[in-house]
Amino acid sequence: MPILVMKFGGTSVATLDRIRRAAKRVGREVANGYDVIVIVSAMSGKTNELVGWVNETSQFYDAREYDAVVSSGENVTAGLMALTLQEMDVPARSWQGWQVPLLTNSAHGAARIEDIPPANILSKFAAGMKVAVVAGFQGVSPEGRITTLGRGGSDTTAVAFAAAFGAERCDIYTDVDGVYTTDPRISDKARKLDRIAFEEMLELASLGAKVLQTRSVELAMRFGVKLRVLSSFEEMDDNAGTLVCAEEDIVESKAVAGVAYSRDEAKMTLISVADRPGIAAAIFGPLADAGVNVDMIVQNIAEDGRTDMTFSCPIDQVARAEKAMTDAKTRGEINFHDLVADKDVAKVSVVGIGMRSHAGVAATMFKALRDEGINIKVITTSEIKISVLIDRKYMELAVQALHDAFELEKA
Ligand code: ADP
Ligand code: ASP
Ligand code: MG
Repeated sequence: MPILVMKFGGTSVATLDRIRRAAKRVGREVANGYDVIVIVSAMSGKTNELVGWVNETSQFYDAREYDAVVSSGENVTAGLMALTLQEMDVPARSWQGWQVPLLTNSAHGAARIEDIPPANILSKFAAGMKVAVVAGFQGVSPEGRITTLGRGGSDTTAVAFAAAFGAERCDIYTDVDGVYTTDPRISDKARKLDRIAFEEMLELASLGAKVLQTRSVELAMRFGVKLRVLSSFEEMDDNAGTLVCAEEDIVESKAVAGVAYSRDEAKMTLISVADRPGIAAAIFGPLADAGVNVDMIVQNIAEDGRTDMTFSCPIDQVARAEKAMTDAKTRGEINFHDLVADKDVAKVSVVGIGMRSHAGVAATMFKALRDEGINIKVITTSEIKISVLIDRKYMELAVQALHDAFELEKA
């Protein structure tokens, strides 16, 4: 039997009613002749609640216990989905990550999948099971402890299963009917894309578009998984949603495909550090060792042998970054006059493979921001994206202005 992977996100399994609705879709694919692997998220809001409980219990928590707690939301929906399918006379069984097993490394809270031996599930399919309902987001470490794959990780579970089982397709059912030119919750001019290239989706996801977890796109690209994003709320035909596919399969060739934003950014500036060989290594080494994910970096022009160094990182890593820098100063490795953290910033980015061949994208972007009176604090570019750091209060305005400037509402 051909295998299909269907993933339902938090809002799509938020109530028993919605689980029933999702189960009906699964039942239809079984009737179409597929063995189905269903990946479920926790009911919407559940994972946030669990994370909150952990933080309230322990400030510097043991990551193994964090995973034990926050993985539990998916266990509930997996069991409920299996029961709902059974009620519809569809032979179904739930599987937690360790039962599959979905093997990961030991990086608790952000574990990477190492292998998914398919034998256990395949033998159940051979024995008449039609649907394996798998709890997303979780796996098991070499030490035999439960791990989680990072927020939004059920998408990655789904793509990894599609790759491991050679599934015909991986369908991601969510609360929007596809990938849009920007978050449809921010701009009502956002337009649904029929197709998007892996590279573009990868950039959009890593720059904040949470419709797919970044790692899931990476895996789909590497293993050539046919990946679709579609709505669990609307009835759709076979060509509905958005297909994430290879660049060659895209006909549209605009310079910019989409606009992404991330509001959880902070800008940190080390004021007056010595401008000498090795200073960047002395700053960013300890930051990396402390687990700070540095994103943008700017070094100012030096004056009298001293300079300012600015970098951005996720807002919840500011305390860790401050500690790493003051510790390095105490050890005498760096010397700075002051460390200033600006927590009121956001990152807005434009992404498109067309940028490789279209000139003037940066100019258009900066002009659009200037016309709205938005000051740019930091800029970074790569081959297919340009990102700027701006005051957070202008984030939505910036997204809308850029969406207009690149005429993304038009096909
Ligand atoms: P799920 O719970 O199904 O995993 P998520 O909340 O993780 O759903 O992701 C879907 C959300 O992603 C949408 O509700 C939308 O607000 C947001 N989003 C951000 N950028 C985009 C985009 N470019 N296209 C579609 N959705 C986007
Ligand atoms: N429930 C997890 C989260 O909210 C995983 C997921 O939904 O993808 O991050
Ligand atoms: Mg998600």
